[in-house]
Amino acid sequence: MMNFLRRRNSLQLKFSVLFVVLLLSVSAVYLYMVTDSSEMYLAEVTQKRNLDLAASIAQELKIDSATNVIPTQTMQELFHQAMIINPYIKLYLVGHSGEVLTYSAPPETVILDYINVVPLRTFLDGSQPLPIFGDDPRAPQRPAVFSATALNNSDGSLHCYLYITLNNDSASEEAASVRKSYIFHVLIRALGVALIVALLIGLLFIFLLTRDLKKMSETVRKMEAGDYTARIEVDSSDELSELAAAFNTMAAKIDTAMTQLKQNDELRRELVANISHDLRTPLASVEGYVETILMKEHLMTEAEKKNYLETILKNTKSLGRLVSELFQLSQLEARQTEPKPETFSIAELTQDIALKFKPKAKEADITLSCEFTEQLPLVYADISLIERVLQNLIDNALQYTMPGGKVHVKLFQYEQDRVKVEVTDTGAGISTEDLHHVFDRFYRSTHVRRKAKGGLGLGLAIARKIVELHGSLLQVNSKVGIGSTFWFTLPVSKEVQPVSS
Ligand code: ADP
Repeated sequence: MMNFLRRRNSLQLKFSVLFVVLLLSVSAVYLYMVTDSSEMYLAEVTQKRNLDLAASIAQELKIDSATNVIPTQTMQELFHQAMIINPYIKLYLVGHSGEVLTYSAPPETVILDYINVVPLRTFLDGSQPLPIFGDDPRAPQRPAVFSATALNNSDGSLHCYLYITLNNDSASEEAASVRKSYIFHVLIRALGVALIVALLIGLLFIFLLTRDLKKMSETVRKMEAGDYTARIEVDSSDELSELAAAFNTMAAKIDTAMTQLKQNDELRRELVANISHDLRTPLASVEGYVETILMKEHLMTEAEKKNYLETILKNTKSLGRLVSELFQLSQLEARQTEPKPETFSIAELTQDIALKFKPKAKEADITLSCEFTEQLPLVYADISLIERVLQNLIDNALQYTMPGGKVHVKLFQYEQDRVKVEVTDTGAGISTEDLHHVFDRFYRSTHVRRKAKGGLGLGLAIARKIVELHGSLLQVNSKVGIGSTFWFTLPVSKEVQPVSS
């Protein structure tokens, strides 16, 4: 908790200061409003209680009907009595336009000669709610509540007003200040308690809120330091937890991307090692043979020379094949090879390829056969890329099948709109362990590697990519000692299909 005090810009500190300032300003406004409204309340009560005071005193002020004058004697007696009964009230007789005619207060204390008659008339109308404040002739700067009545002549015309200010002398002022300070103290105490409670609760909330934020920043820092497994644990279900969830999703994505990057890096390193190895072997062989020919040319027979040159040619062809396969794979992986689909007969293509492989099959004593129905629909695919896939699958099948075995290519309509291509052999089969990797680039089963048979391990990787570009998957089923089946599907062409005879 003390930690945030040390950091001047901590969010916790900012929140706390803001909260305290807010709380204090709200308290101040509240305090002002309560004291102010208590004054208004008191003024209203006083004025309401003395609403008829002026009228009842006026009954005693008998205007002489002959002269229309209030006898001075009566007036002074009445003023005197009123003062004795309630020393806090002051009586004034006020003329039509507000001129102060006579009063019960000591003359030296009365400052105003005129008072505003508008509040007085409003009071008499009863058109406005109380309290109504009017001028206090003794304290012009401080409006006072009052009671008033009109004194009429015998003919009913207005003689003057009797205007009585209420509770407005120094004694009542003292009482008001005592009252104010009393209210103030009670309020201050109540507010103090409320303030402390609100402050404690508020600070606790701020602490809880910023604790989650702190957790988040710690996790972000962990990630910054390279720990991509770091995740935020927030138990609340507010906006912060949404932010945490979004962060966790992002962190998971970064984690996957980083793992992928690492894997790619490893693969790249492996690839470079594989390429170097596969290039070095034929190159070293070419170098060796060329050196031998150069050094022993005069000692060699023509047949030997021919044999050596043929080996060199075989190696350079193998190098050429490796480079072209690598190029093809990299283009496929970078999606730089766009398939150019067209409508063609997969049955005819398979037959042509099988025909090309017939001599090789015969040489290896393997029966190569094709099977399809005449109704087999045309497919819509890139013919040269699919030729590449079929060649690779048949070539592999022939390569890994013992003499006397069979390689069978089967084509048939699969589901509504696809043609399935299956290449089955009765060869060595692939072990479960190898099955997971046969489509990886440069992968050759241990058995194959030991026998130094087969190609470079790029064929199936290329074939899989091509099949993927056609929206399908190259799949395999295999049992060691029984044989393997590789298959994929191709979309049926939407063009008009040939009618079978
Ligand atoms: P290669 O050029 O070495 O044939 P591929 O990518 O075509 O490379 O094949 C990868 C590996 O998969 C081969 O080395 C072999 O171990 C295995 N394989 C492929 N086809 C067959 C098959 N029909 N029967 C048994 N093993 C196979």
